[in-house]
Amino acid sequence: MTADRALGYKEYKCQKCGWVHAAIPRSALPQDGSLGQYLRCFQCHAPSFSFAPAAQGDAPVGCTLQPIFVPRAWGEE
Ligand SMILES: [Zn+2]
Repeated sequence: MTADRALGYKEYKCQKCGWVHAAIPRSALPQDGSLGQYLRCFQCHAPSFSFAPAAQGDAPVGCTLQPIFVPRAWGEE
């Protein structure tokens, strides 16, 4: 996650299973057509548009967060 961390991310949490992800800007997504895997919860596959901002302490400090694209997280569609 070093590269994503450098780019910046926002912590978003799956409302279904509580898994915290790192919401990355659209510009940080791969351009190879693999967008689909960034639109669902890494754990339970719930759609990312249902995610909510994570509260402080939702994710353990220092853990690796899965990158995710959450519409509107960065003011993007
Ligand atoms: Zn989930």
